[in-house]
Amino acid sequence: MEILYSSTRNSAVKLTASQAILKGLADDGGLFVPDHIPALTCSMQELTGRSYQEIAYEVMKLFLTDFTEEELKNCIRCAYDLKFDTEVIAPIVEAEGTYYLELFHGATIAFKDMALSILPHLMITSAKKNHVENEIVILTATSGDTGKAALAGFAGVQGTRIIVFYPKNGVSPIQEKQMVTQEGDNTLVVGIHGNFDDAQTGVKALFNDKELAEEMAAAGLQFSSANSINIGRLVPQVVYYVYAYAKLLEEGKLTDGQRMNVVVPTGNFGNILAAYYAKQMGVPIGRLICASNENKVLYDFFANGKYDRNREFVLTSSPSMDILISSNLERLIYRIAGEDAVRNAQLMEQLARTGSYEITEQMKEELADFYGNYASEEETADRIRAMYENTGYVLDTHTAVASAVYQKYVEDTKDETVTVIASTASPFKFPRNVMNAIDGKYDTMTDFELVDELSRISNVEVPEAVVKIRTAPVIHDHVCDKTEMKQVVKHFLGVDA
Ligand SMILES: *Cc1c(COP(=O)(O)O)cnc(C)c1O
Repeated sequence: MEILYSSTRNSAVKLTASQAILKGLADDGGLFVPDHIPALTCSMQELTGRSYQEIAYEVMKLFLTDFTEEELKNCIRCAYDLKFDTEVIAPIVEAEGTYYLELFHGATIAFKDMALSILPHLMITSAKKNHVENEIVILTATSGDTGKAALAGFAGVQGTRIIVFYPKNGVSPIQEKQMVTQEGDNTLVVGIHGNFDDAQTGVKALFNDKELAEEMAAAGLQFSSANSINIGRLVPQVVYYVYAYAKLLEEGKLTDGQRMNVVVPTGNFGNILAAYYAKQMGVPIGRLICASNENKVLYDFFANGKYDRNREFVLTSSPSMDILISSNLERLIYRIAGEDAVRNAQLMEQLARTGSYEITEQMKEELADFYGNYASEEETADRIRAMYENTGYVLDTHTAVASAVYQKYVEDTKDETVTVIASTASPFKFPRNVMNAIDGKYDTMTDFELVDELSRISNVEVPEAVVKIRTAPVIHDHVCDKTEMKQVVKHFLGVDA
């Protein structure tokens, strides 16, 4: 059945999947949502023994209904290839009786690769299908991982350019080095004086800038978004929850129909929303456990139904989760508001104006599948050390937040359901915080010395992504104020004359 995409703020909008991917964000500022969540057409049993790519096709074809089989299979083939350092794409590691779904085996060693290695292919295919002649300009704000994953995906892709803004003092040194060494004439990386929310707000303002859109159109350019608000990122993320269930079923870790809980270290709410969609498609998922760091706006939201971003922004050791405005939550709000775009738009308007909103009791009841908690910096570090001491397995800081929250969940609920923890980054991306958590003695080492030491103690080879940036020259050294973002963009695109 064909699926059309409407805006969370205006249900009259109806676009095909390819049109929604090209646009990224609706004109009214809303996010594109499918008019219904499709049910899986294969049983979980039928999906056992299938490759990641095969499951990707089974899931994505149900959402991207205007793509032909050949188009979609080609996108999948181009995305999930030797860029990944394992042919299973998303291996599952058992530790302390829990399953860690490792989503960090792509080009930039964070889970953003799962979606951003396919998004450029979905986007060029969408452009061709819709006879778009303009060059596509990807504009992205990053809390650290999206930026590099998007750069790696789009660099050198014909007919596209990519601009990435990141908080100058809000990403790890390895994350920054990964971005500023990015090659490719069609790439621009800029640090801003501000935090991730500033970067994201600035990018949203540029997307909604009608005057800029006209100037760009005159020059044969149009914006699109690689942020997790793009439906072309959300859909590929649903895949690995289906895959994880099929794998655990295949290996006899689950029996058919038995429930599986998932724990997701959460920032912008894209990854956990994908798990929610997987559940709606029919995957036997039980609780969706939303793990936050000290920026615990989502924990408070699940606890009392009030979303309130008016608080201090904390820089933590899990920077990709340092977010106070979780953009993708809007898709959940829309759904629990009974797909009432007017009601959702009111809440989002309130959020923009006052920084907070409160949902109704009835909406709260729709959130029963979710459980929210958070881990402090100390709890996160303790978790990394305890896991290493117990098993020799080294968690990155983000995954450690999830692991710590999972322990709280079990303590709170005594729920012993089989659990999958989304492991969102390689510890090699955050060597200082990881090694400091294991032992304070490492603090005097440089980042690359830490990388070698981490490899030694964990018995894991240094990933290619880290080997490469060791000696790579810095190509991008531009830093600007958040008020200057428009000027920077216009200059790069040559529309500032
Ligand atoms: C982006 C990111 C997250 C947060 O994911 P959301 O989809 O934004 O909730 C968690 N961990 C890592 C390592 C990330 O890169």
